[in-house]
Amino acid sequence: MARHKVDVAVVGTGPGGYVAAIRLAQYGKKVALIEKENVGGVCLNVGCIPSKALICASETFRHIQEAENFGLTVKGLELNPKKLQEWKSGVVHKLTGGVAQLLKMNKVELIRGEAVFSGRREVTVAKEKIAFDAAIVATGSRPLEIPGFAFDGKTVVSSTEALEFADIPKSLLVIGGGYIGLEIGSLYAALGTTVTVVEMTPMLLPGTDPDLVERVAREVKKRKVQVLLETKALSWKSIKGKAEVAVEGKNGRQTLEAEKVLVAVGRTPNSKDLGLESLGVQIDSRGFIKVDVQLKTIVDGIYAIGDVAGQPMLAHKASKEGLVAAGVIAGKKMIYDVKAMPAVIFTTPEIATVGLTEAEAKAKGKKYKLGKFPFAASGKALAMGAAEGFVKILADEKTDVVLGVGIVGPEASSLIGEAALAIEMGARAQDVALTVHPHPTLTETLMEAAEAVEGQAIHIMNR
Ligand code: FAD
Repeated sequence: MARHKVDVAVVGTGPGGYVAAIRLAQYGKKVALIEKENVGGVCLNVGCIPSKALICASETFRHIQEAENFGLTVKGLELNPKKLQEWKSGVVHKLTGGVAQLLKMNKVELIRGEAVFSGRREVTVAKEKIAFDAAIVATGSRPLEIPGFAFDGKTVVSSTEALEFADIPKSLLVIGGGYIGLEIGSLYAALGTTVTVVEMTPMLLPGTDPDLVERVAREVKKRKVQVLLETKALSWKSIKGKAEVAVEGKNGRQTLEAEKVLVAVGRTPNSKDLGLESLGVQIDSRGFIKVDVQLKTIVDGIYAIGDVAGQPMLAHKASKEGLVAAGVIAGKKMIYDVKAMPAVIFTTPEIATVGLTEAEAKAKGKKYKLGKFPFAASGKALAMGAAEGFVKILADEKTDVVLGVGIVGPEASSLIGEAALAIEMGARAQDVALTVHPHPTLTETLMEAAEAVEGQAIHIMNR
């Protein structure tokens, strides 16, 4: 017999699941939200938030070391790894506690335990059955392992353990030059770790506009991070408490030594062991649950959102899908029709993109105009001592509609919000150029890049 009946059961409390649950409650639905680990999912506990807390701390450490540039002499600067971890955990607990409070205030019932679907309208958690009219699967993803590098949680670790090191490792080998590997590698490099990055493809941050990546690669080099491209990690063995890792690249085989090895080669969706296949839910060969534009699976009443429902595996994509699924379940006429999905890489300098890259525009046969503005010409960036990078805007050659924006530079993560709005609203580059931006701020770089589309930026010599 069912323990109780709810309108909607949501499995997973990440940024997909908890956002969907709260929105459903706002629509007046009775919601059960089920979680087997910690409220907040990967993002709040072992992903976006702890990584950014550590990145901000490590950048502060670096800024203080460079404070001499501002005429500030700082003596006695020390790094306390225990306090650093406490700071990070404090941020995580504030946020996860805040989410738990919001769930309570919205009368979302939080149920602890592993959920398995035991019927088309029933989910079982620790032998108790919960009947529902609709369910949302928001079970997220987990780190991928590669052959020869099974996680042991001590020497060979995933991002989860790499964000929890009790001491700053003397050396770190990062397998995978994607955004997670590079963010964590850079943060430890800023804290004094000797970092080596091994990447199989010919570039760091594969898939990102090479124009933007080049600036980050330059900084990575400046921080003395060794980067081995077109190199494959083969195996490892433990020697005197360290890892000796065999890698193979263009110049043959070599062994690298490191105290810790971070494997950051991607993530795989948590779609197995949920009982979904026996219900008829379709799962593709990479483990993603197949959904339509309303986040519906082919089984009536069962929805999937977030990392488990496909790329891009980003927190804000999960939340957006959660809002759409909640709306559809509540009977609203909604589809997932996002034009602009921003993506950010929190390296130094930061990279942020939205819309089409130049390569994508070319591949689609789109003719575009390009406007580029360097942070070196921004008063605010100079005042911040962070004048590295640029903003580039691609606009349709005929209509002037903004097709894509790429930023590499200070606060790119925040600046991209305006670009996302421009693309979502179908703005023209001229709309951005004609909007008054406050001075002196980094936002002016977007305005000037938009002016540069017509060769009319004020603070640079145009082509
Ligand atoms: P998740 O956050 O993965 O949550 C799923 C939840 O479901 C988990 O809590 C899990 O315990 C629970 N669960 C799974 N199976 C069951 C079950 N059977 N029963 C009950 N509960 C279950 N994204 C960004 O947008 N920006 C960033 O800066 C960023 N940085 C990142 C840094 C790192 C190191 C990592 C690892 C990821 C980062 N991400 C970032 C990605 C982001 O964390 C994910 O895209 C996001 O968390 C996905 O949200 P979700 O709701 O789909 O699932």
